[in-house]
Amino acid sequence: MTQPAPASSTLGRIARGNLCSGCGACAAIAPKAIDMQVSGAGFLRPRQTETLTPDQDHRIADACPGLGLQLSPGDRSEHMLWGPYISVYSGHATDATLRHQASSGGALSALLIHLLESGTVDRVLQTGADPDLPIGNRNVLNEAQAEVFASAGSRYAPSAPLAAIAPLLDTDLRIAFVGKPCDVAALRALARTDPRINQRFPYMLSFFCAGVPSLNGAREVLNRLDVTEQELSSFRYRGDGWPGFATATKANGEQARMSYADSWGGVLSRHVQFRCKICPDGTGTFADVVCADAWEADARGYPVFGERDGISLVMSRTEKGENLINAARSAGKLTVSQFDIDTLNTIQPGQRDKRRLTLSRLAALFITLRPRPAFRGFHLWKNARQASPSALAKNFLGTLKRIVTGKI
Ligand SMILES: Cc1cc2nc3c(=O)[nH]c(=O)nc-3n(C[C@H](O)[C@H](O)[C@H](O)COP(=O)(O)OP(=O)(O)OC[C@H]3O[C@@H](n4cnc5c(N)ncnc54)[C@H](O)[C@@H]3O)c2cc1C
Ligand code: SF4
Ligand code: SF4
Repeated sequence: MTQPAPASSTLGRIARGNLCSGCGACAAIAPKAIDMQVSGAGFLRPRQTETLTPDQDHRIADACPGLGLQLSPGDRSEHMLWGPYISVYSGHATDATLRHQASSGGALSALLIHLLESGTVDRVLQTGADPDLPIGNRNVLNEAQAEVFASAGSRYAPSAPLAAIAPLLDTDLRIAFVGKPCDVAALRALARTDPRINQRFPYMLSFFCAGVPSLNGAREVLNRLDVTEQELSSFRYRGDGWPGFATATKANGEQARMSYADSWGGVLSRHVQFRCKICPDGTGTFADVVCADAWEADARGYPVFGERDGISLVMSRTEKGENLINAARSAGKLTVSQFDIDTLNTIQPGQRDKRRLTLSRLAALFITLRPRPAFRGFHLWKNARQASPSALAKNFLGTLKRIVTGKI
């Protein structure tokens, strides 16, 4: 009988703490020993099939965003809440079709198209719908404008873009990488030990990320829309307008849809994985450029989700990112104007609160001796002091209760 491969102690610790974000970096480090599989809970998780070398185990411990993040602003301006940055803009793709099709204003895709058309990169590694599982995602290596258009739009489901990089490292392609903030953080961490990363991936782009829901979240949306997975031919989480509708299209062409407020706010956000609840980096601090929704705020200061033409928030976090934004503007792909960074406090309340409350949630892991990530450079103490004592206590006790009742 074949013996199972001895489990990696690092992967074991991550699994015990439920700390995996599903980035796929471990599969990039040990592609013959690890692949990414959908877990019973509906998330992408590493499956180890062969023994890891000590070096592989060490590199996973170093790069895994589930175990920690090390942010260093260098000589960039740094905002205590929003991290290191060069400039902040709001705007949209100049291509009206892309702007409509994309998640917000299509700025992220416009930057990708500029990189491809200017010959700055040969390919784009990004996430698109999985034709075999319409609510799911797959990694796509795109070259043509139409392919980038087809991959535009946020997909609130697991993705593991780093699981695709191992075979690309020995090519001579220059590739723009798009991923969740934790994916980009892991790619930057891999670059510390593998010089091929920065050669293959000269641009790393991301988006603000409130968390990845399980595939079961999309199944609940389908259930509420009275559509079965068997009937489904395609599924959009949003886009086709701003914010756009979660739209299920059946094989017979019939469509059923749900507003963004109902799909994300009412269903998907309740299926987010645990690692996202203690994430201090939903704003993509490791990316060259990070895009988000430049929501408008109502009189009470809360974001408004009414349908209208999309506007992206566009934040350069490195000089390279700033130069890319300027080049895309000059090439007529992108139109943007300056945006006051302090306005983010009102239009991104979820991200603001998460940064302020991470410490109280980590404290619950600490006192119960659970495995927990080490986050450096996120000013968690200073940010916690900006939260009310009642919010800190509520988040500490809420996390503690989830640990004690076995929900984490
Ligand atoms: C899980 C998730 C959570 C988000 N949370 C927030 C939030 O809290 N606040 C906020 O302002 N914005 C959030 N967004 C981002 C937002 O929805 C827009 O993507 C962002 O505003 C950029 O819009 P755009 O029109 O410029 O991008 P587009 O031009 O539409 O490009 C979107 C890009 O994201 C990639 N992508 C889509 N889904 C995934 C995925 N699951 N994994 C990896 N890559 C993916 C696509 O391949 C494409 O390259 C989230 C997106 C996702 C996927
Ligand atoms: S977070 Fe990424 S590197 Fe860490 S275990 Fe999960 S998939 Fe692997
Ligand atoms: S919230 Fe953080 S950990 Fe979760 S997917 Fe987004 S960036 Fe990764």
